[in-house]
Formats: sequence, structure tokens, C-alpha cells
Amino acid sequence: MKYVVVIGSIMSGLGKGVLTASIAKMLWVRGIRAFPLKFDGYLNVDCGTMNPFRHGEVFVLDDGAEVDMDFGTYERFLNKRLNSQASITGGKIFKHVIEKERRGEFLGEDVQIIPHLTNEIKQWIRDYGRRMGADVVLIEVGGTVGDIENSYFIEAVRQLLREEDGVVVQLTWVPELAEGEQKTKPTQHANKLIRTYGLIPELIVARCNHALKQEVREKLALFCDVEERAIFYDPPLPFIYSLPLELEKQGFADVLLDKLNIKGRKEADWSQWRSLLDNVKKGEVVRVGIVGKYVKVRDAYVSILEALTHAAAHTPFNVESVLLDAENFDVSALSSLHAIIVPGGFGSRGVEGKIEAIKYAREHNVPFLGICLGMQLMVVEYARNVLGWKDANSTEFDANTEHNVIDLLPEQRAVKMLGGSMRLGLYEAEVKTGTQLFSVYGHSLIKERHRHRYEVNTQFLDALQSAGLRVSAVNPQTGLVEAVEWSNGFGIGVQFHPELTSTFEQPNPLFISLVKRGGERAIRH
Ligand code: GLN
Repeated sequence: MKYVVVIGSIMSGLGKGVLTASIAKMLWVRGIRAFPLKFDGYLNVDCGTMNPFRHGEVFVLDDGAEVDMDFGTYERFLNKRLNSQASITGGKIFKHVIEKERRGEFLGEDVQIIPHLTNEIKQWIRDYGRRMGADVVLIEVGGTVGDIENSYFIEAVRQLLREEDGVVVQLTWVPELAEGEQKTKPTQHANKLIRTYGLIPELIVARCNHALKQEVREKLALFCDVEERAIFYDPPLPFIYSLPLELEKQGFADVLLDKLNIKGRKEADWSQWRSLLDNVKKGEVVRVGIVGKYVKVRDAYVSILEALTHAAAHTPFNVESVLLDAENFDVSALSSLHAIIVPGGFGSRGVEGKIEAIKYAREHNVPFLGICLGMQLMVVEYARNVLGWKDANSTEFDANTEHNVIDLLPEQRAVKMLGGSMRLGLYEAEVKTGTQLFSVYGHSLIKERHRHRYEVNTQFLDALQSAGLRVSAVNPQTGLVEAVEWSNGFGIGVQFHPELTSTFEQPNPLFISLVKRGGERAIRH
């Protein structure tokens, strides 16, 4: 097993996750089993309790782990499912070591960062690679070199590379002055800083608005002591999925394999990937509105935005996603849309705007997809406006309503801890034949990822169903409602998150159907 360490320098936000995913992809297309692992320095045990405003969306894996949004990037590129072992946070690794200490497993020793914590980290990385059957483990070091938060992790990586074969890739930024002059000094300093930790970058990837000039490449090679052929640039790209092709063009994979001293098992074939990329922006424009509360941070809905891009790549349509603010909601903004999504969410802010959007979609026959909270609000809207129960609500927003059409299960009511206590991860749903949902998936047993606490209250189901809201899927073990739909037009609500299983090569069928239905509307109008 070999190791590739991706370390970010100068500042955050340079796209380490996309770079790590792109490197992994370049290895997979050559038949090399490359599995990413990410370290995040925060002391949260997982991402579940973090704020999407600051941190972007919380991603959920099959096993229910609530992880950083970079895991979404990995899975979307690789078309592979990862597990919680791929994610190490500061909180998780400290908890692991402290629990071991409490069990007396370090009896008689003073437990220290070096070697106890660093040993656990190395062990974790090796175990992960072994469990995945990896040829290469890609280690993404979260944060920026120089942070206190990732310093002990970098130390563990240094030790790992003493014991095992691997290379370090430095991601950096080469700013350009107004005159177009490209500056290398920040990279030189950052490279020195990485070396003070005992890591030596052998490849450099520089974010830059233009191709690196020859003298800049020479300067970087000299001051950072890397080969000139091992310096690459990461240009502004229309789609993140273009990066592997761009790096491939510059010969990244050949240099990397050479340094790792391994060979690909097959010829790299990008034809399918390239044709998907070519198709993304082709065809009739379908405007899809996403009515949410985190509209100023696109990262909060990144998986939905990506799933729509995947659907665009696989249909004759070109998707334009529009984020609409549910809190200061203006229903007239919906008239130019061809499809509407109400995404998941927590807390009452923006809920009434979302309900208004759902009503509009239902009454105007706009293709609609409600995800998680969006599905719950579809039930609330139906109860209020079709059944006439004006007080209908979820007990998340009104604890005392008589028409608590969405409610907690008794076992959830007993839960006091917030971390990891929702219904999380992959669950089965049995899709009823003859429903729209069945025509979307084409089969009856589906498995999708969940992250929620509230459920449709089955007490009101008969009334809702007789009024025309169909239950289209239930959990076969518990009977919990997994999906509902309107009986006319295309309106589907799902309790799960279809955006979390959509990949560039294999989109989730719900987004394909929504875009196709939206496309039909776009052509008609
Ligand atoms: N807040 C809702 C619940 O906990 C919906 C969650 C979500 O949309 N992810 O059930």
C-alpha cells in the first residue's frame, strides 16, 4: 500500500477536496484502487452538530456517519461508497484515545500526543487502507499548514512516511498582480513551513488564473526543491469534474505514478467522462429553483446542485439552478421556473415560505421534488390547503398543534443527546407499483440515505390519502412513510436524501426525472 498526502498551504478554499478526488479518479481510471481519507481538525466528533452557514452541508454516508462535504466530492467523482473510517476528526481521534486510556489499555504510561495519539492515527490510516483493499490511500489534511489543529496529524503523517512509501502533494496559490505578474513568494514560504514539519512536497499544484509562466515554474522548482515536471497548475474551470482531465493533460498522473513507483493496471480511458462533461451545458435551459434558507452559501446545498449537474450531463437538457430565499419569499419569483425543489432543513426559519412554494407548485403543476423537510412540508401544505386543517404543522415548529401531521416517534422523544441521534444512513424503502416514484426508480426495493428526526404521523394518513395525497413508499421493517406524491402532475416528496447518492457517472434517478419533466415544461413555455 502506498500513500499520497495532499496538504493545503497559504489559505483555505483552494479546492483540496476536489484535487484529492481528482487524483483518486486518475488512479482509478488506471485500475489502481485509490481510497481517500480525510482529517479535519475540529474537536466535534462528527459534522452533525455543525452549522451549514459556516461549514457547508453535512454529508451522510451509508453507515450513518455525518461527515464533511468533501466526502460528497469524493463519492461523486469516484462513484464509490465510503464509510465512517474514511473520516478522522480531532474530536473522534481524541475520544478514541481517551476511551482506550479509560479502559486501561495504556496502563502505567503517561498518554501523550507522541507516540500514543500519533500511533493511533497511523494505525487508523493503515486499517482503513487494508479494509478497503487499497493500493493507494489518499490522505487529505484538512485546514492549512501552520494551523495548531492539524499539527499532530501532520506529525503522524510524517512518521507514516518514514515507515511506508508515499509522496506529498502541496496545493498552493500563485496570485497574479494587476499587470499579470505571477507571484511565487507565498508558495515559497508555505513550502518552507511544510518542511519544518518534516514533510517534503514532491509535487506542487498551484491555483492560478492563468498557466504558470516558464520563469515562475523555474523559480518554484528552485526554491521549493521540486522537479520542474512535478509542478502543475489548477486553472479556473467551468466544472469541478474538469480537473482530472486538466491535470491529466499536464501529465500529473504519469509523474505521480513514477514517484510512487507503481504502474497502472490498464490504459486510462476518459472517453465516457469527457462526453458527459461535453453534455452538461447542451440543450434547452431548464431553470430549477431551490427554495431554502441558506441561499447566500451555495455550499449548504452543494449535493443538490451537483445532483442537478449530474442530471444535466445525462439528459438532453442544460440545468440552471436558482437559489431562492424562503425567508424573504416572493412567490412571483417562481413563475419563470421549470421545476422546484424544497430541500431539507432544520428549525422554523423560512418554513412558511417553503410551504408557499409547495402550494404554488401543486396548483400550477410545476414539477416538484420535496426532500426530507421538503417532503414533510408537502404533507403540511396538503393538510392545510386541501383538507382545510389550518393549524396543521410539524411538531418541530408547533409543539401544540392538534393536526401534528409530522411528529417525533416516541423513541426520538426520549433522546436528549443531539450528536448522531437522528435516523441516519441507508434505509430500505418499498416503492408501490403504479406510483410516479415507481416509474422513476423502475423497481420496488430502493435504499437511500437518511438524516432526520421527525416522521409522517400515520394517524392522519387515511384522511390525507382520501384527499389525494398518495403514500408511494414505506419502510418495509417499520412501516414509516418514505415518500408521498400528488396524484396529478409530477410532485414527489421523499423522506430520504437522493442528492447524497448521486454521482457524475450515475445520477440519482429522481433528479433525472425532475430535469426531464422540467425540460418538457421549458419546451412548452
Ligand atoms: N428537521 C426535519 C427532521 O428532523 C427534517 C430534516 C432534514 O430535512 N434533513 O426530521
